[in-house]
Amino acid sequence: IRNLKGLVGLVTGGASGLGKATVERFVRQGARVILCDLEKSAGKDVADNLGDNCIFSPTNVTSEADVKKALEIAKDKFGKLDVAVNCAGIGIAFKTYNFNKKLPHNLEDFAEVITVNTVGSFNVIRLSVGLIGENEPDADGQRGVVINTSSVAAFDGQMGQAAYSASKGAIVGMNLPIARDLANQGIRCCTIAPGLFNTPLLASLPEKVQTYLASTIPFPKRLGDPDEYAHIVQTIVENPYLNGEVIRVDGSIRMM
Ligand code: NAD
Repeated sequence: IRNLKGLVGLVTGGASGLGKATVERFVRQGARVILCDLEKSAGKDVADNLGDNCIFSPTNVTSEADVKKALEIAKDKFGKLDVAVNCAGIGIAFKTYNFNKKLPHNLEDFAEVITVNTVGSFNVIRLSVGLIGENEPDADGQRGVVINTSSVAAFDGQMGQAAYSASKGAIVGMNLPIARDLANQGIRCCTIAPGLFNTPLLASLPEKVQTYLASTIPFPKRLGDPDEYAHIVQTIVENPYLNGEVIRVDGSIRMM
């Protein structure tokens, strides 16, 4: 695997933000994509705009049945799967963001964030590697790649975001064990830890909070463009020597 052309990817959270930019970059570069998302109309719109090389599969990443269905579509329509990218994610604390309110979580919210962000990502990987493992190995013995999305919040958490930081820290924690577990099958695993990107998730924060956060980024002094995240996904796929890595793409921000 040296470039995206001819590959088949499965991207969760592909209806919006970082996932959408990833789906679009994959198709632009000659890959075919199964777009998985809870949001049916947004997911269908993104896929319809990209033509025959993108198929939307309504998916809750926490559901074994939904993910299996998406994998069946990959196999039936595109014949294989090479890359699985976990971009679906939520941040309950974002809805209640308040600098002065340090522990807004109740147990249900905390568990929901962990279930979607961490358990959901693991679910997609655990099921995808079955299909990826059916590929003929390339010259390196490689069959494919799985990629997770953590966050700088795994390292520098904001007040009021214990659940989100915990869910993203757990994704960092599982990265290397998964890479080691899959090594014998010729499947790599890497994790991306984005800083602050211009997506609907971030736009759900109050504007003054967004402006403040952007002002804390050393360089460039702006939010990240979602395609700058997708570019890292492409780099991971194309470079067989990147494995078990957590890659920050964050304008060198260290959040207080
Ligand atoms: P977004 O809200 O724009 O997109 C997330 C997508 O995931 C949405 O389309 C949503 O419908 C989907 N989704 C949510 N729960 C789902 C579920 N259970 N099953 C399937 N799909 C589901 O968010 P984004 O900013 O593009 O974030 C993408 C990922 O990147 C998330 O994991 C987020 O935590 C992470 N991240 C984002 C930023 C940022 O600055 N935007 C920074 C660090 C990490």
